[in-house]
Parts: sequence; structure tokens; C-alpha cells
Amino acid sequence: MNYKIALIKGDGIGPEVVNEAVGVLEAVGEKFGHTFEYVDVLLGGCATDAVGKSYPDDTAEKCRTCDAVLLGAVGGPKWGSDKPAEQRPETALLAIRRDLGLYANLRPAVLRPAMADACPLKKETAEKGIDLMMVRELTGGVYFGKRDRYQTPDRGVECTDLMAYSEQEIERIGRRAFEMARLRGKKLASVDKANVLETSRLWREVMHRLAGEYPDVAYSDVLVDNCAMQLVRDPSQFDVVVTENMFGDILSDEASMITGSIGLLPSASIGDTAPGLYEPIHGSAPDIAGQDKANPIATILSVAMMMRYSFQRPGEAAAIERAVDAVLAEGWRTADIAGPGVTPIGTRRMGELIRGRI
Ligand code: ATP
Ligand code: MG
Repeated sequence: MNYKIALIKGDGIGPEVVNEAVGVLEAVGEKFGHTFEYVDVLLGGCATDAVGKSYPDDTAEKCRTCDAVLLGAVGGPKWGSDKPAEQRPETALLAIRRDLGLYANLRPAVLRPAMADACPLKKETAEKGIDLMMVRELTGGVYFGKRDRYQTPDRGVECTDLMAYSEQEIERIGRRAFEMARLRGKKLASVDKANVLETSRLWREVMHRLAGEYPDVAYSDVLVDNCAMQLVRDPSQFDVVVTENMFGDILSDEASMITGSIGLLPSASIGDTAPGLYEPIHGSAPDIAGQDKANPIATILSVAMMMRYSFQRPGEAAAIERAVDAVLAEGWRTADIAGPGVTPIGTRRMGELIRGRI
């Protein structure tokens, strides 16, 4: 097959990690008989520098001509909150997700076998392993609700943030999660706060209706506070976890932290028709940019997710994941994951080793 991929290299370490991921794609292409065509797309602080705004007008259009989008990282102190919104990199990230209709955010939290020592949880908990997938609703809920700020006569200023969800919004993310559970361990936990919130009661109603359509998936309801606790107590109980936008924001960061190696974690944002967007969960790391120090593994594993979820190529995805695990098992580490007494290798060397293992 020939695949066309939009590359948003972005700022800071973005270009360095994307270059290594592209190298891995090329190795996959050679081994499995695919060809890849790349379209460079300007977005983020680098776009502000080049054309005066972080989200150039043709960005979404260019991405739509491609089969998937790979993003490195955007942002940096140079384009901070003192700049107008149209020059800020974060504005561009929200805009592209909106314009491509990317309503589902997939964040796997995996404790890679060779990295078990990095897990901050109890040793016996870490030994059970962590391999879960957070499915977060990304375009609804309180982050997108109407906001207000007004003066009251007797209580000072008061603010409101409206949290709204429709059946349609819940159903589409629910279906994604059930389908994901079918591809994995056939277990789904839906996280809500149905003992308090009306949006959560609707969430639960819709999820229960869907559960009837997926009898092969073991379904459970978990309250958000309990989920936060269970993630630390025994994350091995989770396979796929689905939740609304704000709960997912918080829980997916918690799930990442319990693996102990944020530089290893990929993510995907997908919709119904537009190309999916794949990116590492880390930021642009301006402190180490341009020094060949960045860990490219999160971006390389994002390419594995692209193979699996945009191109339905699980064999290719597994080959990438196996290559990463093999290189880690041999003891190779970039600086961010090198323990005491380990001499770290650079970004390019790590990429080269993983390519060689494909
Ligand atoms: P953002 O707002 O873009 O998320 P941030 O400052 O919150 O940025 P990062 O850019 O992820 O977060 O950086 C946090 C720390 O982690 C920095 O010290 C950075 O050097 C380090 N870091 C982030 N990603 C990597 C990576 N891929 N390899 C090595 N170190 C990294
Ligand atoms: Mg950050």
C-alpha cells in the first residue's frame, strides 16, 4: 500500500523525534512492502515565526488530503501567553482537533517490560503489569461549555462553566470504546460521577444501552473518584477505560505517571472521517531541543498506533513495538530514562537501533 502522511514537526524537539519516527516508517515500508509519501504541514510556534500565525489557513485542508497526521510537539516560551491568541501554539492544537472532528483521544498507558523498575507503584503491583487504554471524549463537556462571569449583589464575583453532553456525543465515543475493547482484552470500564451529575446519568444510560449490543465485552461502571484510587492501587484490573473530557484529562495524566516513563507514551486523536492525528504525550521540551538528547520512542510508538488504528495494520504495529522492547531490553537508554550509572545514547542513535530491529 501507499500511505500519505502529513508531518507536523512543530517546535522544540518536535522535528528531531519526528525524523526518527519517519526513519522507522521507512524501515516498516521496506519490510512489509509499503511506501510512504510525506506532506510537511506548518503549525505551532514555527508557523508564527514563518507566517505570523500558529494555525495557517490551509492547515486542515492539507491534512485532509492525507491518510494520517503525525505531530511532534508544539509550543515553547518564545510564544507565551503574553502573545495574541492567533500566535500561540496551543490555539493551533485546539483548532486542528476541532477542524478535523477528532472527538476521541486514545492514550495507552503501558509499563514496558524492560522498564518495570521505573514504575513508582509498589513492586508487587508493578509486577502484575500495566497495559491499559484510556479513551477520552475530546470535544464536549465542561471544557467546551458556555462560560460566564458576573457580579452578584452580595457574594462578589460569580463564575459558571456549563457541562453539557448529548446522547449522540456519548454514543459515538461509547462505540469507539466498545470497538477498542473488542480489539484488546474485551473489558471496558466506563467512568462517571452518576451519583451526582446529570450528564453522568445520561452517560451511564447510553453506555448501558451500548453494552447490550456488545455482549462479548465485560462492562462495568466506575465512579471517577474510585477510578483515581484504583489506578494507583491495582491498574492491572483495567483494560479499556472510557470517560468524558475533564475526567479523562485528569485520569489519563495519572495513568501515564504510574508507568514512570512519560517519554515513552504515544497518543492518538481520531474522528469518523478525517485523518487521525498521532503524537507523543510529552511537550516540546525546549530545554533539550537541538541537542540530540530527546527520547524518540513516544513518537515511534505513535507511528505504531497509526499503523494499528488508521491503517488496520496490526502486524506492522506489533513489529514496531517489539523493536522498541528489544532495544530497551538490551539496556539502551536516552538520558530521560537512563538510571544511575547508565551512559545515555542520543536521539538519532536510538532511532537507528530501533530501525535496525524492524
Ligand atoms: P508542554 O506545555 O509543551 O506540554 P511542558 O514543559 O509541560 O511542555 P515537556 O515539554 O514535555 O512539558 O517537558 C517536561 C520535561 O520533560 C522537560 O524537562 C523535558 O526536557 C522533558 N522531556 C519531555 N519530553 C521528552 C523527551 N521526548 N525526551 C526527553 N526528555 C523529555
Ligand atoms: Mg505540559
